[in-house]
Amino acid sequence: MLEGRVALITGAGKGIGKEIAMELSKLGAKCVINYASSLAGAEETVNEIKKSGGDAYAYQCDVSDYTQVEKMIKDAIEHYGKIDILVNNSGITKDNLLLKMTEADFDAVININLKGAFHCIKAVTKPMMKQRYGRIINITSIVGVIGNAGQANYAASKAGLIGLTKSAARELATRNITVNAVAPGFIQTDMTEVLSDTVKEQLLEQIPMKKLGETADIANAVCFLADERAAYITGQVLNVNGGMAM
Ligand code: NAP
Repeated sequence: MLEGRVALITGAGKGIGKEIAMELSKLGAKCVINYASSLAGAEETVNEIKKSGGDAYAYQCDVSDYTQVEKMIKDAIEHYGKIDILVNNSGITKDNLLLKMTEADFDAVININLKGAFHCIKAVTKPMMKQRYGRIINITSIVGVIGNAGQANYAASKAGLIGLTKSAARELATRNITVNAVAPGFIQTDMTEVLSDTVKEQLLEQIPMKKLGETADIANAVCFLADERAAYITGQVLNVNGGMAM
């Protein structure tokens, strides 16, 4: 249970982030709903949480900009008094084959997916160390573990996130702060909606469970790691992928 806990979830105006916020809130956590462009989605998440008796507010911030992230964390601590749980969920894709991938598309993906998480971790570290409690959960990807043709930038960002997770876990372990990653397989969201039917069929062939995952599958894994009782689990990558990689 997460009563009395405060969570900040990046990219929580839609998709996996929204589901994570809804589930953390159901368990009692007060939630800061970060968004970059999905104002309506973020407001809807807040309204849904409030309707079910929870507490949340929306906050616009581009996680690739450290100054904005620092302010978001400061404001959240002013608002709720602390942050116990940080979920780095924001992510984008700009897929292309290596030969065609521009430097700008490589940088854009790294800046949001990897540096964005670094910025948020850096900004919460001091307050979490002071309170001697923290749960940091980074949403990486199966692609960061096994690679994927056409996604060199995305795979690099997600593999980097795994290294960041393990290093932060080692640095913060003695302060009662755990840092873990959840690596989704292919989940039904806007991000995978763009895949062609042929690609989806090819993917299904590789998934032992023969279906794409749902946002709730990822949210449940995050809730497990966010719980006080996951105290002795740190530096781990929890694969949630229907058996696609094992
Ligand atoms: P999505 O629906 O496209 O959501 C992406 C989220 O990232 C949005 O909430 C978006 O916020 C946020 N975001 C993008 N740029 C941002 C920025 N500069 N600052 C702050 N937030 C930003 O995709 P999703 O499928 O839910 O993905 C969520 C996470 O799961 C991502 O990290 C993704 O890589 C990972 N993942 C997804 C899958 C999958 O199959 N869907 C598989 C493995 C991993 P706005 O809408 O407000 O811009």
